[in-house]
This record gives sequence, C-alpha cells and structure tokens, in this order.
Amino acid sequence: LFGRERLNSAGINLSDAEVLIQLQADLDALAERNWEAYPLIDGKPYAGRPQPVFNPCDQRRQIGQVTHADPEAIGKAAAGALEAFADWRHSPVHARSAYLKKAADLFEAHRLELVSLCAREGGRTIKDALAEVREAVDFCRYYAAEAEKLFTQPVRLSGPTGEANYLSRTGRGAIVCISPWNFPIAIFVGQIAAALAAGNTVIAKPATQTALTAMRCIQLLHRAGIPGAVLQFLPAEGDLIGKHLLTFPGLGGVVFTGSTATARRINQTLAQYQPAIVPLIAETGGQNALIADSSAHVEQLVQDALTSAFNSAGQRCSALRVLYVQEDIADRVIKLLIGTMQELTLGDPGQAATDIGPVIDAQAAARLAEHLGRMRKEAKVLYQVPLAADLRAGSFFPPSLIEIGGIEQLEQEIFGPVLHIVRYRADRLIQVVESINATGYGLTLGIHSRIESHIQSLVERARVGNIYVNRNMIGAVVGVQPFGGMGLSGTGPKAGGPDYLRRLSAERTVTINS
Ligand code: GLU
Repeated sequence: LFGRERLNSAGINLSDAEVLIQLQADLDALAERNWEAYPLIDGKPYAGRPQPVFNPCDQRRQIGQVTHADPEAIGKAAAGALEAFADWRHSPVHARSAYLKKAADLFEAHRLELVSLCAREGGRTIKDALAEVREAVDFCRYYAAEAEKLFTQPVRLSGPTGEANYLSRTGRGAIVCISPWNFPIAIFVGQIAAALAAGNTVIAKPATQTALTAMRCIQLLHRAGIPGAVLQFLPAEGDLIGKHLLTFPGLGGVVFTGSTATARRINQTLAQYQPAIVPLIAETGGQNALIADSSAHVEQLVQDALTSAFNSAGQRCSALRVLYVQEDIADRVIKLLIGTMQELTLGDPGQAATDIGPVIDAQAAARLAEHLGRMRKEAKVLYQVPLAADLRAGSFFPPSLIEIGGIEQLEQEIFGPVLHIVRYRADRLIQVVESINATGYGLTLGIHSRIESHIQSLVERARVGNIYVNRNMIGAVVGVQPFGGMGLSGTGPKAGGPDYLRRLSAERTVTINS
C-alpha cells in the first residue's frame, strides 16, 4: 500500500490453467507483429535510416526496426527539453501526478503488448515481463503519491517574529534518463516517472537492444497527456549520447542504470562539459553473495539460491553470483542444486513453460563462454545445463554451477546465469563477509541462517544496499524494498524509496520580512 488510496499493481493468477491458456493464446496472436522505434523530438517522429531488430531467442526472427538519433536529433531533443522546462516547472504537482496515474492505468490496459515486446526483444520470460509491467505501474503510482507529499505546499519554517520563512521544491531542469536492457519497461519507466513527478523535463535514452519496448512505453506516456516537448525520446548509440547529449550545456541531471565503468565515464563527461555541477544518480553493478550457515533450511536455501542466480537468466544487478556455504552442509546443497538445475527449462521466453530465456545478445553469450573457459582451468565446473540443438540459433547460455575458492577469484561482475559456490569453515564467517566487502561492490546480500547472532553480525558488517534474510534476493518491490547499492554499486538514493524525488528536485528558501 502506498499512501492511503493506492495498492501495488494487480497481478495475474498464473496457477489458474484457464488464465494461463488464455494469456498464451493472446501472446501467440501478437507474436508476428512488427514494431518500430524512432526518435520523438517535441512529440514528432524524426526520420532516418531504420535498422532491423532481431529476437535474441532466434536471430533469424525479425521483430521490427529502429531508427537511431543522429547528432542533429540529439541537439534538438536537448534544446526542446530545456525550453519546455520553463513552463513545466510551474505545472501543478497534481497535474503531473494525474498524468502518471493515467499512464499507470494505460500500462495495465496494454499489458499484453508490453509483455510480448519485452519477451521478443529483451528475452524476458512471460513471468519476468508481467512483473516488469507491474513494477512500472508501481513506480508511476508511487512517485505520483510521493510528489504530492513533497511538492504540494511550501514548508513553513520557524523564524524571528515578523519574518516568514518557507522551504519549497521545484524541478531541476532537463534530466537525461539512460536505462538498461535488462529491465526495458520497469527501469525505463521508473526513471522517467520520477524525473517528471519532481517537475523536470526528460530526455529518455533507452538501451539500444530494447528500443522497441521503450518506444511503446513512451507512446503510452504521451497518450496519458505528458507533452512531447516535456518527454523527448532518443534511441541512439551510447557514444553519440556521451558526445552530444551529456555535453549539451545546461542539463539538470542524469539518471543512469548500467555498468560501473559507464557511470564513471558519464560522471567525467558531466564534470568536464557542464557549466554547473550536475547531479548523477547511478545504479550500477554488483558482486552479490549469499551466506548460508549450517543452521540454514537447506531446501529453502536451494530454492532461493536457484531463483536468485538464474531468474532472468541471471541478468539482474541484484542476482546472486557467489553462494558461500558452511562446509558441513555444502555437499548436500550442491547435490540439491544440481538436481533442481536439471529441472530447468531453457527456451523461447514467449512460451509459458520456459524458465530461462536467452541472454541479451551474442556478445553477452560469448563473454560468459569466455568466463566458463577460464573457470574450467582455474576452478571446478560442477554442472552445466545441457543446451538443446534447436536453441543454437539464439544467444543462449546454459545455467552453470562452479566451485571457486573465494569471491576474490572473480575479476568482475559476471552478468548471466552462472552461480559460483564457495565452502567456508564455521570459524571464518566474519572473514567471509569481509572478503565480500573487499570487492568494493555493495548491492545485495542474502543470508540464510536460523542463528540470530549470525544474522545480526552479518547485517551489521555488510556494506550493501539491500539485505535479504531467509528468502531470495531479487525482485525488490517499489515502496516496500527501496532498491540501490553503495560503493561501486551506485550513488543512491534508492529507486522506489522516499528520497529519490528529493535528489531530482531543487530546494528554495524564501524569507519575507513583514
Ligand atoms: N530491482 C531489481 C531487483 O530487485 C534489479 C534491478 C537491476 O537489475 O538493475 O531484482
């Protein structure tokens, strides 16, 4: 529940066979639709040379075409958003919130199209895609409600007699929102909704791999009443954005989700080219671990580790990468993990029976294969799900379980369905959490234990943004588990939390002497 009048977005009961059969039939009917994406500058399509977009599940299947922005389009979108801010900053917060609530309703009404697109373009399973639509709806309603709390009335402050003091908030300006392909609906919409709610105009740059899904979201946001000049859409290659958008003088801020390396480059560009000190909200990578001691409920642990590591083909920043298991229970855990991995179904994410879809593209699959090759030499590959011959036309990477000596053996974040497992001795629990902290990342941590003092000391010591005890460690819910990390994992504030809109706003104090 967010505030008094709203609930999180409603789901679909997938355990009801009739509902599932109908959903599958509806999605099958959309499976051949051709989609298009192009820049929308001040709400108008910008023409260019469209390029085909293929399904990562089968590179021979075209889904649509996308026209990327050139430097001229980028300049126009930036100028348009800067100009539109002059009026939009005075828009009443209730009007902005009403647009977002309307957009939330439209996302729910167009759920099927969005799920279809997200599965075909982003390789997301039906369950993941449904959850994404719900999360996008939640972001819109949550930020609408938060904005009404923060922006409605100036706060009256106490002061000397005869003097009135007020603190109020406005937008900061034109905000660039740069979103990742792993959440082409939820994170894309979440960034935009927050920036708009706080009274900013937006230049939205979707991930190049998922521009078609982003385009559909933008169309629905515009249909909800958000003016084209207030929300500009720029599918474009990342290097052009770095060169022509982030250097455009006068930006109000940047919201970014993606790799730590890219966040650092964005920061450098802003520092070098923007006249003002421009804030950057970055949500970046993770090297996430789960620590299980011998008091853990083993079946529950295995279920949660499996979900955390392999759901979304491991392509979540929050995903589990390294499972630390106390040596006494390690053999049992490994045996059960392999047993459950054997039950996983890899395949077309647009089919309800599929547990794991492809990774986003051939380069991602190649990077994972390279890691596995290295691990075959330096560690022990315990199990890899076999890959059926009919999946060879897609960018699939089979879920893998690898035993390593410690988290320090991984040089970087491995963004895919690879779970590393480490055995530790009971007297090394504190060293385990210290070695996790030493990676410098700080996004999610899982703990499985029924010993209160273990849980407490791990929670106290861990330098991470989101801790999950005795459950899985993915799928943070808006307003319930505000999400985001520290250190190499991001700047904060947390998405879906009460401080996010503050960072996107500017404060003003007015003092009146009467
Ligand atoms: N919020 C997502 C989760 O809790 C992860 C977001 C991401 O991968 O960037 O699973």
